[in-house]
Amino acid sequence: MVRIGAHVDQDDPAAHAVEVGAEVVQFFLGDPQGYDKPVLPAKPVEGVDLYIHAPYLINVATTNNRIRIPSRKLLEQHLKAAASLGAKGLVVHGGHVNKSDDPQTGFDNWRKVFERMECPIPVLIENTAGGDNAMARKLERIARLWDALDGFDVGFCLDTCHAHAGGEELLDLVERVRAITGRIDLVHCNDSRDEFDSGADRHANLGQGRIDPELILAVCRAAGAPIIVETPAAGQADDIAFLRKNL
Ligand SMILES: [Zn+2]
Repeated sequence: MVRIGAHVDQDDPAAHAVEVGAEVVQFFLGDPQGYDKPVLPAKPVEGVDLYIHAPYLINVATTNNRIRIPSRKLLEQHLKAAASLGAKGLVVHGGHVNKSDDPQTGFDNWRKVFERMECPIPVLIENTAGGDNAMARKLERIARLWDALDGFDVGFCLDTCHAHAGGEELLDLVERVRAITGRIDLVHCNDSRDEFDSGADRHANLGQGRIDPELILAVCRAAGAPIIVETPAAGQADDIAFLRKNL
Protein backbone atom coordinates (compact mmCIF):
# COMPACT_ATOMS: atom_id res chain seq x y z
CA MET A 1 0.00 0.00 0.00
CA VAL A 2 1.38 3.40 -0.92
CA ARG A 3 1.70 6.12 1.68
CA ILE A 4 -1.15 8.61 1.72
CA GLY A 5 -1.13 12.06 3.26
CA ALA A 6 -1.86 15.73 2.92
CA HIS A 7 -0.48 19.19 2.36
CA VAL A 8 -0.55 20.78 5.81
CA ASP A 9 0.32 24.00 7.55
CA GLN A 10 4.00 24.26 8.48
CA ASP A 11 3.35 25.37 12.07
CA ASP A 12 3.18 21.76 13.26
CA PRO A 13 3.14 19.23 10.40
CA ALA A 14 3.39 16.16 12.65
CA ALA A 15 0.33 17.20 14.66
CA HIS A 16 -1.65 17.93 11.49
CA ALA A 17 -0.66 14.52 10.14
CA VAL A 18 -2.26 12.90 13.18
CA GLU A 19 -5.39 15.06 12.78
CA VAL A 20 -6.04 13.92 9.22
CA GLY A 21 -4.58 10.42 9.39
CA ALA A 22 -1.62 11.16 7.11
CA GLU A 23 1.45 8.93 6.75
CA VAL A 24 3.17 11.54 4.62
CA VAL A 25 2.96 15.32 4.71
CA GLN A 26 3.88 18.16 2.43
CA PHE A 27 4.26 21.77 3.48
CA PHE A 28 5.77 25.10 2.46
CA LEU A 29 8.83 26.61 4.11
CA GLY A 30 7.38 30.09 4.44
CA ASP A 31 5.02 32.20 2.34
CA PRO A 32 4.20 30.34 -0.91
CA GLN A 33 3.56 33.69 -2.60
CA GLY A 34 6.81 35.29 -1.46
CA TYR A 35 10.49 35.39 -2.33
CA ASP A 36 11.57 35.03 1.29
CA LYS A 37 14.27 32.62 2.36
CA PRO A 38 12.98 29.24 3.58
CA VAL A 39 11.87 29.08 7.19
CA LEU A 40 12.14 25.71 8.92
CA PRO A 41 9.15 24.49 10.95
CA ALA A 42 9.32 25.41 14.61
CA LYS A 43 8.45 21.90 15.76
CA PRO A 44 10.25 18.68 14.72
CA VAL A 45 8.53 16.65 12.02
CA GLU A 46 8.80 13.03 13.12
CA GLY A 47 6.96 9.82 12.35
CA VAL A 48 5.94 10.78 8.81
CA ASP A 49 7.55 10.99 5.41
CA LEU A 50 7.78 14.52 4.14
CA TYR A 51 7.91 16.53 0.97
CA ILE A 52 8.47 20.25 0.66
CA HIS A 53 6.60 22.41 -1.86
CA ALA A 54 8.62 25.31 -3.24
CA PRO A 55 6.98 28.77 -3.45
CA TYR A 56 4.58 29.31 -6.35
CA LEU A 57 6.46 32.40 -7.51
CA ILE A 58 9.48 30.39 -8.56
CA ASN A 59 9.75 30.45 -12.34
CA VAL A 60 13.15 29.28 -13.50
CA ALA A 61 11.97 28.99 -17.12
CA THR A 62 11.18 32.66 -17.74
CA THR A 63 13.25 34.89 -20.01
CA ASN A 64 12.80 37.71 -17.48
CA ASN A 65 16.13 37.93 -15.61
CA ARG A 66 14.54 39.74 -12.68
CA ILE A 67 12.35 36.69 -12.06
CA ARG A 68 14.57 33.84 -13.28
CA ILE A 69 17.68 34.71 -11.27
CA PRO A 70 15.95 35.10 -7.87
CA SER A 71 13.88 32.01 -8.73
CA ARG A 72 17.00 29.91 -9.18
CA LYS A 73 18.44 31.17 -5.92
CA LEU A 74 15.21 30.48 -4.07
CA LEU A 75 14.92 27.00 -5.57
CA GLU A 76 18.43 26.15 -4.40
CA GLN A 77 17.77 27.53 -0.91
CA HIS A 78 14.56 25.52 -0.61
CA LEU A 79 16.25 22.38 -1.90
CA LYS A 80 18.99 22.65 0.73
CA ALA A 81 16.48 23.37 3.48
CA ALA A 82 14.26 20.47 2.39
CA ALA A 83 17.27 18.15 2.38
CA SER A 84 18.22 19.31 5.88
CA LEU A 85 14.77 18.21 7.07
CA GLY A 86 15.17 14.79 5.48
CA ALA A 87 12.49 15.44 2.85
CA LYS A 88 12.04 12.88 0.08
CA GLY A 89 11.80 15.59 -2.56
CA LEU A 90 11.16 19.23 -3.38
CA VAL A 91 8.11 19.92 -5.54
CA VAL A 92 8.29 22.88 -7.92
CA HIS A 93 5.99 24.03 -10.70
CA GLY A 94 7.19 23.88 -14.30
CA GLY A 95 6.86 27.63 -14.82
CA HIS A 96 6.30 29.45 -18.08
CA VAL A 97 7.74 31.86 -20.59
CA ASN A 98 6.05 35.01 -21.87
CA LYS A 99 3.44 34.74 -24.58
CA SER A 100 5.74 35.85 -27.39
CA ASP A 101 8.73 33.75 -26.28
CA ASP A 102 9.91 30.56 -27.95
CA PRO A 103 9.17 27.83 -25.37
CA GLN A 104 12.53 26.22 -26.19
CA THR A 105 14.18 29.08 -24.29
CA GLY A 106 12.27 27.98 -21.21
CA PHE A 107 13.33 24.35 -21.60
CA ASP A 108 16.94 25.49 -22.02
CA ASN A 109 16.63 27.62 -18.87
CA TRP A 110 15.46 24.55 -16.97
CA ARG A 111 18.50 22.62 -18.20
CA LYS A 112 20.80 25.37 -16.91
CA VAL A 113 19.28 24.97 -13.45
CA PHE A 114 20.41 21.36 -13.23
CA GLU A 115 23.77 22.08 -14.83
CA ARG A 116 24.53 24.51 -12.00
CA MET A 117 22.72 23.11 -8.97
CA GLU A 118 23.70 20.23 -6.69
CA CYS A 119 20.65 18.10 -5.86
CA PRO A 120 21.02 16.38 -2.47
CA ILE A 121 17.39 15.24 -2.83
CA PRO A 122 15.28 15.00 -6.02
CA VAL A 123 13.58 18.02 -7.52
CA LEU A 124 10.07 16.96 -8.58
CA ILE A 125 8.70 19.09 -11.40
CA GLU A 126 4.92 19.36 -11.19
CA ASN A 127 2.48 19.73 -14.07
CA THR A 128 0.49 22.96 -13.92
CA ALA A 129 -3.12 23.83 -14.77
CA GLY A 130 -2.77 27.16 -16.47
CA GLY A 131 -0.74 29.38 -18.72
CA ASP A 132 -0.63 29.65 -22.51
CA ASN A 133 3.12 29.25 -22.67
CA ALA A 134 3.62 26.91 -19.72
CA MET A 135 6.46 24.42 -19.59
CA ALA A 136 4.54 21.59 -17.94
CA ARG A 137 0.82 21.99 -18.68
CA LYS A 138 0.45 19.74 -21.73
CA LEU A 139 2.25 16.45 -22.25
CA GLU A 140 3.75 17.66 -25.52
CA ARG A 141 5.59 20.37 -23.53
CA ILE A 142 6.56 17.96 -20.74
CA ALA A 143 8.12 15.76 -23.42
CA ARG A 144 10.19 18.67 -24.70
CA LEU A 145 11.17 19.59 -21.14
CA TRP A 146 12.34 16.04 -20.48
CA ASP A 147 14.32 16.08 -23.72
CA ALA A 148 16.08 19.21 -22.47
CA LEU A 149 16.75 17.56 -19.09
CA ASP A 150 18.14 14.36 -20.57
CA GLY A 151 20.98 13.02 -18.42
CA PHE A 152 19.79 14.69 -15.20
CA ASP A 153 18.07 12.90 -12.34
CA VAL A 154 14.80 14.86 -12.27
CA GLY A 155 11.55 13.63 -10.73
CA PHE A 156 7.94 14.22 -11.65
CA CYS A 157 4.92 15.13 -9.52
CA LEU A 158 1.56 14.46 -11.18
CA ASP A 159 -1.34 16.64 -10.04
CA THR A 160 -4.77 15.30 -11.03
CA CYS A 161 -6.54 18.69 -10.72
CA HIS A 162 -3.89 20.39 -12.83
CA ALA A 163 -4.03 17.66 -15.49
CA HIS A 164 -7.82 17.90 -15.76
CA ALA A 165 -7.94 21.71 -15.72
CA GLY A 166 -4.87 21.83 -17.95
CA GLY A 167 -6.59 19.79 -20.63
CA GLU A 168 -5.06 16.32 -20.26
CA GLU A 169 -7.48 13.39 -19.96
CA LEU A 170 -6.92 11.35 -16.80
CA LEU A 171 -7.69 8.07 -18.56
CA ASP A 172 -4.35 6.26 -19.06
CA LEU A 173 -2.55 9.48 -18.10
CA VAL A 174 -0.01 7.68 -15.92
CA GLU A 175 1.10 5.50 -18.82
CA ARG A 176 1.43 8.52 -21.11
CA VAL A 177 3.42 10.48 -18.53
CA ARG A 178 5.68 7.52 -17.75
CA ALA A 179 6.41 7.09 -21.44
CA ILE A 180 7.92 10.59 -21.26
CA THR A 181 9.45 10.92 -17.80
CA GLY A 182 10.06 7.26 -16.97
CA ARG A 183 8.84 7.94 -13.43
CA ILE A 184 6.19 9.43 -11.21
CA ASP A 185 7.58 10.22 -7.79
CA LEU A 186 4.53 11.75 -6.16
CA VAL A 187 0.82 12.19 -6.88
CA HIS A 188 -1.03 15.35 -5.92
CA CYS A 189 -4.51 13.90 -5.61
CA ASN A 190 -7.05 16.68 -5.97
CA ASP A 191 -10.48 17.14 -7.47
CA SER A 192 -11.06 20.27 -9.56
CA ARG A 193 -13.68 22.96 -9.06
CA ASP A 194 -13.39 23.82 -12.73
CA GLU A 195 -14.14 22.14 -16.02
CA PHE A 196 -11.77 20.24 -18.28
CA ASP A 197 -9.13 22.46 -19.96
CA SER A 198 -10.36 25.56 -18.07
CA GLY A 199 -6.78 26.47 -17.11
CA ALA A 200 -8.01 27.28 -13.59
CA ASP A 201 -6.16 25.96 -10.54
CA ARG A 202 -8.80 25.51 -7.86
CA HIS A 203 -8.63 22.27 -5.89
CA ALA A 204 -11.67 20.53 -4.44
CA ASN A 205 -12.14 17.67 -2.00
CA LEU A 206 -12.49 14.31 -3.71
CA GLY A 207 -15.97 13.78 -5.14
CA GLN A 208 -16.84 17.47 -4.66
CA GLY A 209 -15.48 18.72 -7.97
CA ARG A 210 -15.72 17.98 -11.69
CA ILE A 211 -13.53 14.86 -11.91
CA ASP A 212 -14.97 11.34 -11.82
CA PRO A 213 -13.60 9.86 -8.55
CA GLU A 214 -13.01 6.55 -10.36
CA LEU A 215 -10.57 8.30 -12.69
CA ILE A 216 -8.73 9.81 -9.72
CA LEU A 217 -8.49 6.38 -8.12
CA ALA A 218 -7.26 4.88 -11.39
CA VAL A 219 -4.46 7.46 -11.60
CA CYS A 220 -3.42 6.74 -8.00
CA ARG A 221 -3.43 2.98 -8.58
CA ALA A 222 -1.43 3.19 -11.78
CA ALA A 223 1.11 5.64 -10.38
CA GLY A 224 1.96 3.53 -7.34
CA ALA A 225 3.66 6.58 -5.79
CA PRO A 226 3.04 8.33 -2.48
CA ILE A 227 -0.14 10.42 -2.54
CA ILE A 228 -0.69 13.92 -1.15
CA VAL A 229 -4.13 15.53 -1.07
CA GLU A 230 -3.89 19.31 -1.46
CA THR A 231 -7.56 19.80 -0.79
CA PRO A 232 -9.47 22.11 1.57
CA ALA A 233 -8.29 21.20 5.08
CA ALA A 234 -11.73 20.46 6.55
CA GLY A 235 -12.20 17.55 4.13
CA GLN A 236 -8.68 16.12 4.10
CA ALA A 237 -9.34 13.38 6.66
CA ASP A 238 -12.31 12.20 4.55
CA ASP A 239 -10.25 12.38 1.35
CA ILE A 240 -7.50 10.23 2.88
CA ALA A 241 -10.05 7.75 4.27
CA PHE A 242 -11.72 7.56 0.84
CA LEU A 243 -8.40 6.76 -0.82
CA ARG A 244 -7.45 4.14 1.79
CA LYS A 245 -10.82 2.45 1.44
CA ASN A 246 -10.91 2.40 -2.35
CA LEU A 247 -7.34 1.92 -3.48
ZN1 LIG B 1 -0.21 20.19 -6.72
